[in-house]
Amino acid sequence: MANLIQHNIQQVQERIAHACRRVGRSPEDVQIVLATKTVEAGRILKATRLGYPIIGENRVQEAEEKIEQLDEYAAELQWHFIGHLQSNKVNKVVRFASMIQSIDRMKIVQKLNRRLKKVDKTMDVLIQVNTSGEDSKYGIHPSRALAFVEKASEYKRLNIKGLMTIGLFSDDWPKVRAGFRQLREIRYAIAAEQLEGVQMEHLSMGMTNDFELAIEEGATMIRLGRAIFGERSTPDSYYWPGIESTTDLH
Ligand SMILES: *Cc1c(COP(=O)(O)O)cnc(C)c1O
Repeated sequence: MANLIQHNIQQVQERIAHACRRVGRSPEDVQIVLATKTVEAGRILKATRLGYPIIGENRVQEAEEKIEQLDEYAAELQWHFIGHLQSNKVNKVVRFASMIQSIDRMKIVQKLNRRLKKVDKTMDVLIQVNTSGEDSKYGIHPSRALAFVEKASEYKRLNIKGLMTIGLFSDDWPKVRAGFRQLREIRYAIAAEQLEGVQMEHLSMGMTNDFELAIEEGATMIRLGRAIFGERSTPDSYYWPGIESTTDLH
């Protein structure tokens, strides 16, 4: 339903504006990435048409299907990859993604760089950091993030644009906030190194349950699924092996 998506987006916009006002930020500095796992192409298009062209997909095959369905709108859409990337899917992701937000191991960095070289492209990437301390989540341990970025920056086909994290699934808000704050601090520490090929422009953090906290802590990209499209029927464990569901908190 177009109207429901429109209504949800209006509410999200108001909440973003409030969160920004609390900390003296401008809403223009917070981009929405539509988190579209399980959402069919037609509904995604409705949201992009309301001014949000960035689509974040978790699975390569699901992304490819939707890209095909939305082929005639290709010029107005940007696809980000936000899920766990398997190394045998790297070549496919290179074909459609304008950004990969979930770089979490050197093997992927190497494979990606090799592929990009072969097809003579570069790719914007974010490094995923596990700030929640939950083993079930992917991402580099915070204590190794700087060393990882230093090493990854040697692979010149990747433009490292910042960091991404998935917040702690909890309603203990101070703890959730602490994770986001930690990501911000890691970003400063990395930026201070002034590494070649590294621009710490982006902090991608905050989802439906916690995006206001993330904005208060400096998020430049928030990834929203349920806040815009409503509840998902497929459990998130299908996309994130090892976890129960982001909706368990409700
Ligand atoms: C599903 C997902 C989101 C959005 O989750 P919601 O709680 O629906 O907003 C954000 N980031 C990633 C990596 C996801 O898989």
